[in-house]
Amino acid sequence: MQLTLAIIKPDAMEKRLQGAILQRILAEGFEVVALRQTRLTREQAEGFYAVHREKPFFDGLCSFMSRGPVVVMALSREDAVRHWREVIGATNPADAAEGTIRKHHASSVTENAVHGSDSQENGRLECGYFFPGVELL
Ligand code: ATP
Ligand code: MG
Repeated sequence: MQLTLAIIKPDAMEKRLQGAILQRILAEGFEVVALRQTRLTREQAEGFYAVHREKPFFDGLCSFMSRGPVVVMALSREDAVRHWREVIGATNPADAAEGTIRKHHASSVTENAVHGSDSQENGRLECGYFFPGVELL
């Protein structure tokens, strides 16, 4: 079993897609090990996306991610990291495959509905960041 972090981003929350996305997560065989709604501070958004600090889209990305509530979830499943990224689709919805969450629900390359960890190690780190002290697996 592997852990990955999923976030329902502010654009999807504004469109009231929480239920649809959670339904898809369960249909894909993930266990929801931990879940909570929160609102990221600007500082938390900057910390979460620190690897993108030098990118031209960094400022807009952090404004977007802190503009409203998000739902964060620790998901477990066999091959969780790869499978969740397959379900969410490419970063840019224009490139996302048919049937993916981003293809259906993303508005733009920045406002792309959901987050997924990009490696097993980041999955563990990100779940630990949002759910400190919780026994996840
Ligand atoms: P995430 O980490 O949110 O799951 P990702 O792994 O598909 O997305 P990253 O390269 O990690 O993509 O980029 C993080 C986020 O930064 C993207 O989800 C998107 O919101 C934003 N972003 C990435 N590339 C661009 C870009 N070229 N222009 C605008 N925003 C971008
Ligand atoms: Mg990423």
